[in-house]
Amino acid sequence: MGQIQRYQMLIDGQWVDAEGDRRFDSINPANGSIWASIPDASEADVNRAVEAAQRAFAEGPWSNTTATSRGKALRRLGDLLAEKSDALGKTETVDTGKLFKETRWQAAYIAEYFHYYAGLADKVHGETLPIDKPDLMVFTTREPLGVIAAVVPWNSQLFLAAVKLAPALAAGNTVVLKASEHASAAILEFGKAIEEAGFPPGVVNIISGHGEPCGRALTSHPGVSRVSFTGGPETARQIIRNSAENLAEVSLELGGKSPVIVFDDADLESAANGVVAGIFGASGQSCVAGSRLYLHEKIADRFLAQLVETAQGIRIGDPLAEETQMGPLATEAQLLKIEEEIAIAKKEGATIAAGGRRPPELKRGWFFEPTIIECSDQKNRIMDTELFGPVLAVLRFKTEAEAVTLANDTQYGLAAGIFTRDTARALRVSKAIRAGIVWVNTYRVVSPIAEFGGFKNSGYGRESGLQAIYDYTRSKTVWLNTSSEPIANPFVMR
Ligand code: NAD
Repeated sequence: MGQIQRYQMLIDGQWVDAEGDRRFDSINPANGSIWASIPDASEADVNRAVEAAQRAFAEGPWSNTTATSRGKALRRLGDLLAEKSDALGKTETVDTGKLFKETRWQAAYIAEYFHYYAGLADKVHGETLPIDKPDLMVFTTREPLGVIAAVVPWNSQLFLAAVKLAPALAAGNTVVLKASEHASAAILEFGKAIEEAGFPPGVVNIISGHGEPCGRALTSHPGVSRVSFTGGPETARQIIRNSAENLAEVSLELGGKSPVIVFDDADLESAANGVVAGIFGASGQSCVAGSRLYLHEKIADRFLAQLVETAQGIRIGDPLAEETQMGPLATEAQLLKIEEEIAIAKKEGATIAAGGRRPPELKRGWFFEPTIIECSDQKNRIMDTELFGPVLAVLRFKTEAEAVTLANDTQYGLAAGIFTRDTARALRVSKAIRAGIVWVNTYRVVSPIAEFGGFKNSGYGRESGLQAIYDYTRSKTVWLNTSSEPIANPFVMR
Protein backbone atom coordinates (compact mmCIF):
# COMPACT_ATOMS: atom_id res chain seq x y z
CA MET A 1 0.00 0.00 0.00
CA GLY A 2 1.33 3.46 -0.91
CA GLN A 3 1.47 6.47 1.36
CA ILE A 4 -1.87 7.77 2.64
CA GLN A 5 -2.74 11.13 1.09
CA ARG A 6 -3.75 13.75 3.64
CA TYR A 7 -6.33 16.23 2.33
CA GLN A 8 -7.41 19.61 3.66
CA MET A 9 -10.48 21.80 3.09
CA LEU A 10 -10.56 25.20 1.38
CA ILE A 11 -12.17 27.85 3.61
CA ASP A 12 -11.76 31.58 3.05
CA GLY A 13 -8.84 31.01 0.69
CA GLN A 14 -6.90 28.91 3.25
CA TRP A 15 -6.20 25.18 3.27
CA VAL A 16 -7.40 24.03 6.68
CA ASP A 17 -8.06 20.93 8.80
CA ALA A 18 -11.42 20.25 10.43
CA GLU A 19 -11.92 21.43 14.01
CA GLY A 20 -9.79 19.23 16.28
CA ASP A 21 -8.28 17.68 13.11
CA ARG A 22 -11.15 15.16 12.98
CA ARG A 23 -10.78 12.90 9.92
CA PHE A 24 -12.11 9.82 8.20
CA ASP A 25 -10.52 7.35 5.81
CA SER A 26 -11.18 7.02 2.13
CA ILE A 27 -11.03 3.51 0.73
CA ASN A 28 -9.95 2.49 -2.77
CA PRO A 29 -12.86 0.28 -3.93
CA ALA A 30 -10.66 -1.61 -6.40
CA ASN A 31 -8.63 -3.18 -3.58
CA GLY A 32 -10.34 -2.28 -0.29
CA SER A 33 -7.29 -0.41 1.08
CA ILE A 34 -7.22 2.98 2.80
CA TRP A 35 -5.60 5.48 0.47
CA ALA A 36 -6.57 8.95 1.78
CA SER A 37 -7.42 10.80 4.97
CA ILE A 38 -10.23 13.35 4.68
CA PRO A 39 -11.24 16.19 7.05
CA ASP A 40 -14.54 15.55 8.83
CA ALA A 41 -16.15 19.00 9.08
CA SER A 42 -18.03 19.92 12.24
CA GLU A 43 -20.78 22.48 12.67
CA ALA A 44 -18.10 25.06 13.61
CA ASP A 45 -16.27 24.36 10.32
CA VAL A 46 -19.53 24.79 8.40
CA ASN A 47 -20.08 28.11 10.17
CA ARG A 48 -16.58 29.27 9.20
CA ALA A 49 -17.19 28.36 5.57
CA VAL A 50 -20.61 30.03 5.37
CA GLU A 51 -19.35 33.16 7.12
CA ALA A 52 -16.43 33.38 4.68
CA ALA A 53 -18.85 33.05 1.77
CA GLN A 54 -21.14 35.70 3.28
CA ARG A 55 -18.22 38.12 3.69
CA ALA A 56 -17.02 37.47 0.15
CA PHE A 57 -20.54 38.12 -1.12
CA ALA A 58 -21.22 41.27 0.88
CA GLU A 59 -17.84 42.93 1.29
CA GLY A 60 -15.18 41.25 -0.78
CA PRO A 61 -13.97 42.19 -4.23
CA TRP A 62 -16.38 39.63 -5.70
CA SER A 63 -19.40 41.85 -5.00
CA ASN A 64 -17.81 44.67 -7.05
CA THR A 65 -16.58 42.45 -9.88
CA THR A 66 -18.29 43.04 -13.21
CA ALA A 67 -20.20 40.20 -14.81
CA THR A 68 -17.65 40.24 -17.65
CA SER A 69 -14.78 39.75 -15.17
CA ARG A 70 -16.66 36.91 -13.51
CA GLY A 71 -16.96 35.32 -16.92
CA LYS A 72 -13.21 35.65 -17.45
CA ALA A 73 -12.48 33.96 -14.10
CA LEU A 74 -14.77 31.08 -15.05
CA ARG A 75 -13.10 30.76 -18.43
CA ARG A 76 -9.68 30.52 -16.74
CA LEU A 77 -11.06 27.88 -14.39
CA GLY A 78 -12.40 25.87 -17.33
CA ASP A 79 -9.02 26.03 -19.09
CA LEU A 80 -7.22 24.89 -15.95
CA LEU A 81 -9.60 21.96 -15.49
CA ALA A 82 -8.98 20.83 -19.04
CA GLU A 83 -5.22 20.93 -18.32
CA LYS A 84 -5.60 19.05 -15.03
CA SER A 85 -8.09 16.48 -16.29
CA ASP A 86 -5.63 13.55 -16.13
CA ALA A 87 -4.66 14.20 -12.51
CA LEU A 88 -8.22 14.93 -11.39
CA GLY A 89 -9.58 11.92 -13.27
CA LYS A 90 -7.00 9.64 -11.69
CA THR A 91 -7.88 10.82 -8.18
CA GLU A 92 -11.58 10.26 -8.85
CA THR A 93 -10.86 6.77 -10.15
CA VAL A 94 -8.78 5.75 -7.13
CA ASP A 95 -11.45 7.21 -4.84
CA THR A 96 -14.57 5.77 -6.50
CA GLY A 97 -13.51 2.94 -8.80
CA LYS A 98 -15.02 4.64 -11.84
CA LEU A 99 -13.04 3.94 -15.02
CA PHE A 100 -10.10 6.29 -15.59
CA LYS A 101 -11.10 6.49 -19.27
CA GLU A 102 -14.40 8.04 -18.14
CA THR A 103 -13.20 10.22 -15.21
CA ARG A 104 -10.42 11.70 -17.37
CA TRP A 105 -12.90 12.48 -20.14
CA GLN A 106 -15.45 13.88 -17.70
CA ALA A 107 -12.89 16.08 -15.92
CA ALA A 108 -11.96 17.55 -19.30
CA TYR A 109 -15.58 17.93 -20.41
CA ILE A 110 -16.60 19.89 -17.30
CA ALA A 111 -14.43 22.67 -18.70
CA GLU A 112 -17.26 23.13 -21.22
CA TYR A 113 -19.69 23.90 -18.38
CA PHE A 114 -17.45 26.65 -17.05
CA HIS A 115 -16.92 28.01 -20.56
CA TYR A 116 -20.66 27.98 -21.32
CA TYR A 117 -21.57 29.94 -18.17
CA ALA A 118 -18.51 32.19 -18.62
CA GLY A 119 -20.15 33.32 -21.85
CA LEU A 120 -23.54 33.78 -20.20
CA ALA A 121 -22.29 35.78 -17.18
CA ASP A 122 -22.78 39.20 -18.85
CA LYS A 123 -25.90 38.27 -20.79
CA VAL A 124 -28.28 38.08 -17.85
CA HIS A 125 -30.30 41.26 -17.64
CA GLY A 126 -33.59 42.69 -16.47
CA GLU A 127 -36.35 44.52 -18.33
CA THR A 128 -38.03 47.91 -18.56
CA LEU A 129 -41.74 47.56 -17.76
CA PRO A 130 -44.56 49.43 -19.61
CA ILE A 131 -46.06 50.43 -16.26
CA ASP A 132 -49.74 51.42 -16.00
CA LYS A 133 -49.12 54.79 -14.27
CA PRO A 134 -47.85 58.14 -15.54
CA ASP A 135 -44.46 59.65 -14.70
CA LEU A 136 -42.84 56.45 -13.60
CA MET A 137 -40.04 54.47 -15.08
CA VAL A 138 -39.95 50.92 -13.75
CA PHE A 139 -37.24 48.41 -14.49
CA THR A 140 -35.98 45.10 -13.11
CA THR A 141 -32.47 43.83 -12.54
CA ARG A 142 -31.36 40.26 -11.84
CA GLU A 143 -29.51 39.99 -8.55
CA PRO A 144 -27.43 37.09 -7.23
CA LEU A 145 -29.01 35.28 -4.27
CA GLY A 146 -26.06 35.21 -1.85
CA VAL A 147 -24.46 32.07 -0.46
CA ILE A 148 -25.23 28.84 -2.31
CA ALA A 149 -24.87 25.49 -0.55
CA ALA A 150 -23.93 22.90 -3.16
CA VAL A 151 -24.25 19.34 -1.84
CA VAL A 152 -23.12 16.49 -4.07
CA PRO A 153 -23.07 12.66 -3.94
CA TRP A 154 -20.10 10.38 -4.60
CA ASN A 155 -20.71 9.42 -8.21
CA SER A 156 -19.47 11.91 -10.84
CA GLN A 157 -18.75 14.35 -8.05
CA LEU A 158 -16.64 16.78 -10.11
CA PHE A 159 -19.23 16.88 -12.84
CA LEU A 160 -22.09 17.36 -10.39
CA ALA A 161 -20.16 20.13 -8.63
CA ALA A 162 -19.49 21.88 -11.95
CA VAL A 163 -23.17 21.99 -12.98
CA LYS A 164 -23.89 23.86 -9.74
CA LEU A 165 -20.81 26.06 -9.42
CA ALA A 166 -20.62 27.34 -12.98
CA PRO A 167 -24.06 29.05 -13.14
CA ALA A 168 -23.97 30.05 -9.45
CA LEU A 169 -20.63 31.87 -9.80
CA ALA A 170 -21.47 33.34 -13.20
CA ALA A 171 -24.54 34.93 -11.59
CA GLY A 172 -22.37 36.52 -8.86
CA ASN A 173 -23.10 34.24 -5.90
CA THR A 174 -20.56 32.72 -3.52
CA VAL A 175 -20.54 29.01 -2.75
CA VAL A 176 -19.93 26.44 -0.05
CA LEU A 177 -19.46 23.09 -1.78
CA LYS A 178 -19.85 19.96 0.32
CA ALA A 179 -18.22 16.79 -0.98
CA SER A 180 -19.64 13.35 -0.25
CA GLU A 181 -18.12 11.39 2.61
CA HIS A 182 -17.66 8.51 0.14
CA ALA A 183 -15.66 10.50 -2.40
CA SER A 184 -14.14 13.81 -1.38
CA ALA A 185 -10.61 13.73 -2.76
CA ALA A 186 -11.18 14.94 -6.33
CA ILE A 187 -13.40 17.79 -5.12
CA LEU A 188 -10.81 18.91 -2.58
CA GLU A 189 -8.17 18.78 -5.31
CA PHE A 190 -10.44 20.83 -7.56
CA GLY A 191 -9.97 23.61 -4.96
CA LYS A 192 -6.40 24.07 -6.25
CA ALA A 193 -7.78 25.07 -9.65
CA ILE A 194 -10.13 27.53 -7.92
CA GLU A 195 -7.12 29.16 -6.25
CA GLU A 196 -5.06 29.18 -9.43
CA ALA A 197 -7.89 30.70 -11.46
CA GLY A 198 -7.73 33.70 -9.09
CA PHE A 199 -11.13 33.63 -7.35
CA PRO A 200 -10.94 35.89 -4.27
CA PRO A 201 -10.89 34.13 -0.87
CA GLY A 202 -14.30 32.96 0.33
CA VAL A 203 -15.96 32.93 -3.10
CA VAL A 204 -15.66 29.15 -3.31
CA ASN A 205 -15.27 27.18 -0.09
CA ILE A 206 -14.92 23.42 -0.20
CA ILE A 207 -15.70 21.24 2.79
CA SER A 208 -15.89 17.50 3.39
CA GLY A 209 -17.86 15.63 6.01
CA HIS A 210 -20.85 13.47 6.77
CA GLY A 211 -24.55 14.19 6.36
CA GLU A 212 -24.66 14.71 10.13
CA PRO A 213 -23.43 17.20 11.26
CA CYS A 214 -21.85 18.76 8.16
CA GLY A 215 -24.64 18.45 5.55
CA ARG A 216 -27.39 19.25 8.04
CA ALA A 217 -25.56 22.30 9.45
CA LEU A 218 -24.85 23.63 5.96
CA THR A 219 -28.31 23.21 4.48
CA SER A 220 -30.06 24.70 7.53
CA HIS A 221 -27.57 27.55 8.02
CA PRO A 222 -29.30 30.97 8.21
CA GLY A 223 -26.62 32.45 5.96
CA VAL A 224 -27.49 30.16 3.04
CA SER A 225 -29.87 31.45 0.37
CA ARG A 226 -30.18 28.44 -1.91
CA VAL A 227 -29.44 24.74 -1.57
CA SER A 228 -28.58 22.90 -4.72
CA PHE A 229 -28.68 19.20 -3.91
CA THR A 230 -27.90 16.04 -5.81
CA GLY A 231 -28.37 12.73 -4.04
CA GLY A 232 -31.00 10.29 -2.88
CA PRO A 233 -34.72 10.99 -2.19
CA GLU A 234 -34.48 10.26 1.57
CA THR A 235 -31.72 12.85 2.04
CA ALA A 236 -33.73 15.25 -0.11
CA ARG A 237 -36.64 15.00 2.34
CA GLN A 238 -34.27 15.88 5.19
CA ILE A 239 -32.91 18.81 3.21
CA ILE A 240 -36.40 20.20 2.68
CA ARG A 241 -36.91 19.95 6.45
CA ASN A 242 -33.54 21.64 7.02
CA SER A 243 -34.56 24.47 4.72
CA ALA A 244 -37.50 25.23 7.03
CA GLU A 245 -34.80 26.77 9.26
CA ASN A 246 -33.37 29.20 6.71
CA LEU A 247 -36.19 29.36 4.13
CA ALA A 248 -33.56 28.77 1.46
CA GLU A 249 -34.66 27.94 -2.06
CA VAL A 250 -34.04 24.27 -2.83
CA SER A 251 -33.36 22.41 -6.04
CA LEU A 252 -33.23 18.63 -6.04
CA GLU A 253 -31.61 16.24 -8.52
CA LEU A 254 -32.46 12.79 -7.22
CA GLY A 255 -32.43 9.18 -8.22
CA GLY A 256 -34.11 7.24 -10.97
CA LYS A 257 -35.18 3.87 -12.33
CA SER A 258 -35.10 4.93 -15.92
CA PRO A 259 -36.91 2.84 -18.55
CA VAL A 260 -35.52 1.96 -21.95
CA ILE A 261 -38.05 0.73 -24.54
CA VAL A 262 -36.87 -1.25 -27.55
CA PHE A 263 -39.54 -1.57 -30.28
CA ASP A 264 -39.51 -4.32 -32.88
CA ASP A 265 -38.62 -1.84 -35.65
CA ALA A 266 -35.43 -0.62 -33.91
CA ASP A 267 -31.90 -0.98 -35.25
CA LEU A 268 -31.18 -3.80 -32.83
CA GLU A 269 -27.40 -3.65 -32.87
CA SER A 270 -27.43 0.05 -32.14
CA ALA A 271 -30.10 -0.40 -29.47
CA ALA A 272 -28.07 -3.14 -27.77
CA ASN A 273 -25.05 -0.83 -27.59
CA GLY A 274 -27.24 1.95 -26.20
CA VAL A 275 -28.72 -0.35 -23.55
CA VAL A 276 -25.28 -1.64 -22.52
CA ALA A 277 -23.85 1.89 -22.27
CA GLY A 278 -26.92 2.99 -20.31
CA ILE A 279 -26.69 0.35 -17.59
CA PHE A 280 -23.11 -0.93 -17.47
CA GLY A 281 -21.36 2.43 -18.01
CA ALA A 282 -19.93 3.63 -14.66
CA SER A 283 -20.90 0.17 -13.31
CA GLY A 284 -24.51 1.36 -13.31
CA GLN A 285 -23.73 3.99 -10.67
CA SER A 286 -25.33 6.76 -12.60
CA CYS A 287 -28.53 8.60 -11.74
CA VAL A 288 -29.70 8.21 -15.34
CA ALA A 289 -28.78 4.51 -15.61
CA GLY A 290 -31.25 2.80 -17.97
CA SER A 291 -32.01 0.11 -15.42
CA ARG A 292 -35.45 -1.07 -16.65
CA LEU A 293 -35.56 -2.56 -20.12
CA TYR A 294 -38.86 -3.15 -21.95
CA LEU A 295 -38.53 -5.39 -25.00
CA HIS A 296 -41.13 -5.92 -27.70
CA GLU A 297 -42.06 -9.61 -27.58
CA LYS A 298 -41.21 -10.15 -31.27
CA ILE A 299 -37.54 -9.30 -30.81
CA ALA A 300 -37.14 -10.13 -27.10
CA ASP A 301 -35.41 -13.53 -27.37
CA ARG A 302 -32.96 -12.42 -30.04
CA PHE A 303 -32.19 -9.12 -28.32
CA LEU A 304 -31.76 -10.69 -24.90
CA ALA A 305 -29.39 -13.33 -26.28
CA GLN A 306 -27.27 -10.56 -27.82
CA LEU A 307 -27.28 -8.55 -24.56
CA VAL A 308 -26.29 -11.57 -22.48
CA GLU A 309 -23.37 -12.29 -24.80
CA THR A 310 -22.19 -8.65 -24.59
CA ALA A 311 -22.60 -8.51 -20.79
CA GLN A 312 -20.64 -11.73 -20.32
CA GLY A 313 -17.82 -10.36 -22.48
CA ILE A 314 -17.35 -7.15 -20.46
CA ARG A 315 -13.83 -6.97 -19.01
CA ILE A 316 -14.06 -6.23 -15.27
CA GLY A 317 -11.02 -5.16 -13.27
CA ASP A 318 -8.60 -2.38 -12.39
CA PRO A 319 -10.38 0.89 -13.22
CA LEU A 320 -7.04 2.58 -13.99
CA ALA A 321 -6.20 0.07 -16.77
CA GLU A 322 -7.07 1.18 -20.30
CA GLU A 323 -8.42 -2.24 -21.31
CA THR A 324 -10.90 -2.46 -18.40
CA GLN A 325 -14.54 -1.96 -19.38
CA MET A 326 -16.17 -2.03 -15.95
CA GLY A 327 -14.72 -1.16 -12.54
CA PRO A 328 -15.92 -1.93 -9.01
CA LEU A 329 -18.80 -0.43 -7.07
CA ALA A 330 -17.82 2.59 -5.00
CA THR A 331 -18.64 1.23 -1.56
CA GLU A 332 -19.05 -2.11 0.14
CA ALA A 333 -22.50 -1.04 1.35
CA GLN A 334 -23.56 -0.67 -2.32
CA LEU A 335 -22.39 -4.18 -3.08
CA LEU A 336 -24.26 -5.66 -0.13
CA LYS A 337 -27.45 -3.77 -1.01
CA ILE A 338 -27.34 -5.04 -4.59
CA GLU A 339 -26.85 -8.64 -3.46
CA GLU A 340 -29.78 -8.31 -1.09
CA GLU A 341 -32.08 -6.83 -3.76
CA ILE A 342 -31.16 -9.53 -6.27
CA ALA A 343 -31.99 -12.22 -3.72
CA ILE A 344 -35.41 -10.59 -3.18
CA ALA A 345 -36.03 -10.33 -6.93
CA LYS A 346 -35.27 -14.05 -7.34
CA LYS A 347 -37.62 -14.91 -4.49
CA GLU A 348 -40.31 -12.88 -6.26
CA GLY A 349 -39.87 -14.99 -9.40
CA ALA A 350 -37.24 -13.17 -11.49
CA THR A 351 -34.58 -15.20 -13.29
CA ILE A 352 -30.92 -14.31 -13.79
CA ALA A 353 -29.94 -14.26 -17.47
CA ALA A 354 -26.36 -13.03 -16.85
CA GLY A 355 -24.15 -12.24 -13.85
CA GLY A 356 -25.86 -11.92 -10.48
CA ARG A 357 -22.71 -12.48 -8.38
CA ARG A 358 -19.25 -11.16 -7.53
CA PRO A 359 -16.69 -12.23 -10.16
CA PRO A 360 -14.98 -15.24 -8.54
CA GLU A 361 -11.55 -14.36 -9.94
CA LEU A 362 -11.46 -10.91 -8.25
CA LYS A 363 -10.86 -11.60 -4.57
CA ARG A 364 -10.28 -8.01 -3.42
CA GLY A 365 -12.37 -4.91 -4.06
CA TRP A 366 -16.10 -4.45 -4.51
CA PHE A 367 -16.72 -5.89 -7.95
CA PHE A 368 -20.04 -7.22 -9.25
CA GLU A 369 -20.74 -8.89 -12.56
CA PRO A 370 -22.85 -7.13 -15.22
CA THR A 371 -26.25 -8.56 -14.44
CA ILE A 372 -29.39 -9.08 -16.50
CA ILE A 373 -32.45 -10.23 -14.64
CA GLU A 374 -35.68 -11.14 -16.40
CA CYS A 375 -38.94 -10.37 -14.64
CA SER A 376 -42.35 -11.71 -15.57
CA ASP A 377 -44.19 -9.03 -13.65
CA GLN A 378 -43.87 -5.27 -13.30
CA LYS A 379 -44.79 -5.78 -9.62
CA ASN A 380 -41.41 -7.36 -8.93
CA ARG A 381 -39.79 -4.94 -6.49
CA ILE A 382 -36.61 -4.67 -8.56
CA MET A 383 -38.62 -2.93 -11.30
CA ASP A 384 -38.92 0.20 -9.14
CA THR A 385 -35.98 0.06 -6.74
CA GLU A 386 -32.92 2.11 -7.63
CA LEU A 387 -29.98 -0.27 -7.17
CA PHE A 388 -27.25 2.07 -8.40
CA GLY A 389 -25.29 -0.83 -9.84
CA PRO A 390 -24.78 -2.88 -13.02
CA VAL A 391 -28.16 -4.61 -12.85
CA LEU A 392 -30.67 -4.52 -15.70
CA ALA A 393 -34.25 -5.63 -15.03
CA VAL A 394 -36.05 -6.81 -18.18
CA LEU A 395 -39.74 -7.21 -19.03
CA ARG A 396 -41.53 -7.94 -22.33
CA PHE A 397 -44.41 -5.96 -23.84
CA LYS A 398 -46.90 -6.42 -26.69
CA THR A 399 -48.15 -2.94 -27.65
CA GLU A 400 -46.92 0.65 -27.66
CA ALA A 401 -49.61 1.66 -25.17
CA GLU A 402 -48.54 -1.12 -22.80
CA ALA A 403 -44.88 -0.04 -23.08
CA VAL A 404 -45.80 3.54 -22.14
CA THR A 405 -47.91 2.40 -19.18
CA LEU A 406 -45.08 0.18 -17.90
CA ALA A 407 -42.46 2.91 -18.39
CA ASN A 408 -44.57 5.38 -16.40
CA ASP A 409 -45.39 2.89 -13.65
CA THR A 410 -42.66 4.20 -11.33
CA GLN A 411 -42.08 6.56 -8.43
CA TYR A 412 -39.26 8.18 -10.46
CA GLY A 413 -39.09 10.33 -13.60
CA LEU A 414 -35.52 11.27 -14.40
CA ALA A 415 -34.72 9.81 -17.83
CA ALA A 416 -35.97 7.38 -20.48
CA GLY A 417 -34.71 5.81 -23.69
CA ILE A 418 -36.69 4.87 -26.81
CA PHE A 419 -35.29 2.78 -29.65
CA THR A 420 -37.35 2.81 -32.85
CA ARG A 421 -36.93 3.72 -36.52
CA ASP A 422 -40.43 5.27 -36.57
CA THR A 423 -40.09 9.01 -35.92
CA ALA A 424 -43.80 9.56 -35.32
CA ARG A 425 -43.77 6.82 -32.69
CA ALA A 426 -40.62 8.32 -31.12
CA LEU A 427 -42.39 11.68 -30.76
CA ARG A 428 -45.63 10.11 -29.48
CA VAL A 429 -43.88 8.02 -26.86
CA SER A 430 -41.47 10.75 -25.75
CA LYS A 431 -44.49 13.02 -25.17
CA ALA A 432 -46.30 10.35 -23.16
CA ILE A 433 -43.37 9.48 -20.88
CA ARG A 434 -43.18 11.34 -17.57
CA ALA A 435 -39.44 11.96 -17.36
CA GLY A 436 -37.26 15.04 -17.49
CA ILE A 437 -34.96 13.65 -20.21
CA VAL A 438 -35.92 11.40 -23.13
CA TRP A 439 -33.22 10.00 -25.38
CA VAL A 440 -34.32 8.61 -28.74
CA ASN A 441 -31.95 6.13 -30.42
CA THR A 442 -29.17 7.22 -28.06
CA TYR A 443 -28.57 7.19 -24.30
CA ARG A 444 -26.66 8.96 -21.49
CA VAL A 445 -25.65 12.07 -23.46
CA VAL A 446 -25.44 15.39 -21.62
CA SER A 447 -24.38 18.94 -22.45
CA PRO A 448 -24.09 22.29 -20.67
CA ILE A 449 -26.59 23.61 -23.24
CA ALA A 450 -29.35 21.10 -22.42
CA GLU A 451 -31.49 21.24 -19.26
CA PHE A 452 -31.24 18.28 -16.92
CA GLY A 453 -33.59 17.17 -14.13
CA GLY A 454 -36.52 15.01 -13.18
CA PHE A 455 -40.20 14.64 -12.45
CA LYS A 456 -41.87 12.90 -9.48
CA ASN A 457 -39.42 11.42 -6.92
CA SER A 458 -36.50 12.31 -9.18
CA GLY A 459 -36.71 15.87 -7.87
CA TYR A 460 -37.39 19.38 -9.07
CA GLY A 461 -35.42 22.28 -10.46
CA ARG A 462 -33.22 22.01 -13.53
CA GLU A 463 -29.48 22.12 -14.04
CA SER A 464 -27.56 23.17 -17.17
CA GLY A 465 -28.96 25.29 -19.97
CA LEU A 466 -29.77 28.99 -20.12
CA GLN A 467 -32.43 28.95 -17.40
CA ALA A 468 -30.00 27.63 -14.76
CA ILE A 469 -28.16 30.95 -14.49
CA TYR A 470 -31.48 32.79 -13.97
CA ASP A 471 -32.33 30.29 -11.23
CA TYR A 472 -29.29 31.55 -9.33
CA THR A 473 -30.65 35.11 -9.44
CA ARG A 474 -33.78 36.91 -8.27
CA SER A 475 -35.40 39.98 -9.78
CA LYS A 476 -35.34 43.40 -8.18
CA THR A 477 -37.90 46.02 -9.28
CA VAL A 478 -36.79 49.65 -9.30
CA TRP A 479 -39.47 52.43 -9.43
CA LEU A 480 -38.26 55.82 -10.60
CA ASN A 481 -40.38 58.98 -10.46
CA THR A 482 -39.77 60.96 -13.67
CA SER A 483 -42.16 63.83 -12.90
CA SER A 484 -40.76 67.35 -12.54
CA GLU A 485 -43.57 68.10 -10.03
CA PRO A 486 -43.04 67.52 -6.30
CA ILE A 487 -44.99 64.68 -4.69
CA ALA A 488 -48.39 65.95 -3.51
CA ASN A 489 -49.08 66.09 0.21
CA PRO A 490 -50.73 62.70 0.85
CA PHE A 491 -52.99 64.14 3.57
CA VAL A 492 -54.56 66.79 1.38
CA MET A 493 -57.36 65.28 -0.69
CA ARG A 494 -58.01 66.97 -4.05
P1 NAD B 1 -27.00 10.72 -0.49
O1 NAD B 1 -28.34 11.35 -0.58
O2 NAD B 1 -26.78 9.68 0.56
O3 NAD B 1 -25.86 11.82 -0.21
C1 NAD B 1 -25.70 12.95 -1.04
C2 NAD B 1 -25.05 14.07 -0.24
O4 NAD B 1 -25.93 14.51 0.78
C3 NAD B 1 -23.76 13.68 0.47
O5 NAD B 1 -22.82 14.73 0.35
C4 NAD B 1 -24.21 13.51 1.91
O6 NAD B 1 -23.17 13.71 2.86
C5 NAD B 1 -25.25 14.60 2.02
N1 NAD B 1 -26.19 14.43 3.13
C6 NAD B 1 -26.58 13.28 3.75
N2 NAD B 1 -27.47 13.55 4.73
C7 NAD B 1 -27.66 14.89 4.73
C8 NAD B 1 -28.48 15.78 5.49
N3 NAD B 1 -29.27 15.35 6.47
N4 NAD B 1 -28.44 17.09 5.19
C9 NAD B 1 -27.67 17.56 4.19
N5 NAD B 1 -26.86 16.77 3.45
C10 NAD B 1 -26.86 15.45 3.71
O7 NAD B 1 -26.71 10.16 -1.92
P2 NAD B 1 -25.51 9.21 -2.39
O8 NAD B 1 -25.78 7.83 -1.90
O9 NAD B 1 -24.20 9.84 -2.06
O10 NAD B 1 -25.69 9.29 -3.98
C11 NAD B 1 -26.52 8.45 -4.69
C12 NAD B 1 -27.83 9.09 -5.03
O11 NAD B 1 -27.63 10.29 -5.78
C13 NAD B 1 -28.67 8.20 -5.92
O12 NAD B 1 -30.02 8.19 -5.54
C14 NAD B 1 -28.52 8.84 -7.29
O13 NAD B 1 -29.52 8.53 -8.20
C15 NAD B 1 -28.47 10.27 -6.94
N6 NAD B 1 -27.89 11.06 -8.05
C16 NAD B 1 -28.70 11.91 -8.77
C17 NAD B 1 -28.18 12.63 -9.84
C18 NAD B 1 -29.03 13.58 -10.65
O14 NAD B 1 -28.47 14.47 -11.28
N7 NAD B 1 -30.33 13.45 -10.69
C19 NAD B 1 -26.84 12.49 -10.18
C20 NAD B 1 -26.06 11.61 -9.43
C21 NAD B 1 -26.60 10.91 -8.37
